[in-house]
Amino acid sequence: MQATYARQGSNHAKWEKKRVKEGLCVKCPKPLSELSGRFCEEHRIWHNEKSKRHYRDNKTICNQRTKISGHRARVRVMVALGGLFCTWCGEDDYRVLTIDHVKGHTTPVKGRTRSRRGLTFQDLYNIENGRSQLADFRVLCANCQSRHEHIRGKRKIYPEIAEAVRAAGGSIPLENELPIPQKPMPPRHSNRTSSC
Ligand SMILES: [Zn+2]
Ligand SMILES: [Zn+2]
Repeated sequence: MQATYARQGSNHAKWEKKRVKEGLCVKCPKPLSELSGRFCEEHRIWHNEKSKRHYRDNKTICNQRTKISGHRARVRVMVALGGLFCTWCGEDDYRVLTIDHVKGHTTPVKGRTRSRRGLTFQDLYNIENGRSQLADFRVLCANCQSRHEHIRGKRKIYPEIAEAVRAAGGSIPLENELPIPQKPMPPRHSNRTSSC
């Protein structure tokens, strides 16, 4: 099957870039469509149909690829944030690590501001290409993120609930009891040897 995208950095990709800069379709001599950054109107429709068909016929592999490249971006962002461990407790099991918005993540949806947990892959790409500030994020484990939601008041334990928990022998710290470490802690189980 003919590739639709030129490999990044290849001569063909450079040629495409130049062509788009001149306002011309990368498939024919016609001008670019207003709705596309690469094609004329006919080729835009052709490419859309082709992509849809390809996705329909290769759903599993397409979804897998999206997931893999998204997680690669997630790992790169975590590394840029200081490492793959919780900055509060040092937990380093990737399965429970989250990228937390320091001030609480909000995304405008249809004119409203709706808070949302977890970052989408698009959010990650936005951090990578500088559209979102790296300093607004940090790595937390799911437990510490949940605690932080309580500390910043997004989730609430009513005194009656706390009472019931304590009466049953459970533990529940007072609000804001968890100290916020100033410096990221090292990972708990480091099996890394010297870097070379
Ligand atoms: Zn064209
Ligand atoms: Zn933690």
